[in-house]
Amino acid sequence: MKVVLLGAPGSGKGTQAGFISEKLNIPHISTGDIFRENMKKKTPLGLKVKSLMDSGNLCPDDLTVELIKERLNHDDCKNGYLLDGFPRNLHQAKALDGFCPPDKVLNLDVDFERIERRITGRRSCYECGGTYHVDFITDPNKCPLCGGELFTRKDDTSETVKTRLKVYQTQTEPLIGYYSEQNKLVTVDGNAEISDVERNVLEALGI
Ligand code: ADP
Ligand code: ZN
Repeated sequence: MKVVLLGAPGSGKGTQAGFISEKLNIPHISTGDIFRENMKKKTPLGLKVKSLMDSGNLCPDDLTVELIKERLNHDDCKNGYLLDGFPRNLHQAKALDGFCPPDKVLNLDVDFERIERRITGRRSCYECGGTYHVDFITDPNKCPLCGGELFTRKDDTSETVKTRLKVYQTQTEPLIGYYSEQNKLVTVDGNAEISDVERNVLEALGI
């Protein structure tokens, strides 16, 4: 199955993605993770997008589309894909329809007040890439999974979160209408606990 995950920053896309990709045996492809990986390694791509990402703005469309187009050619995509963070605007959605359109689009719907709290409490692991909320782990500096050191993403500060939410509302939210017209959209309430959201996701995707 080819699945696109839609949802505001902090809506829990990454968390649900891990679970869905395992269930369906499809790769979890996160453009944000790919960009961050490139920034960490200081590749030409990473250096190019750093200031845009750090300020909460989108990376250039042509570059992002090429990246995904290339990634979807890999062998592990033969069963489909789970895209997290792409497409992020209409231009990207139309581009994707041109080379590998999704079967379903899962929209994780979360109230905006909840989002700010979730994002500013988010911590990521340097070692395994896991993400957690400080309220749910015993040591805010240590990964509960692998013991690695946790850090706060540079774009997870409250000022940048405002920009990201605005970018989401103006550029990404129109995709809800776009995919709904194609009859591909399923919406799940993302305000509940992780396990409840998981159950509703399974049901929405019919898996
Ligand atoms: P979140 O969903 O929590 O905002 P992501 O990890 O998906 O975080 O994205 C982080 C940043 O990466 C975005 O703010 C943007 O700068 C860049 N980015 C990710 N995906 C795309 C995309 N499809 N197009 C342009 N920029 C992107
Ligand atoms: Zn870890």
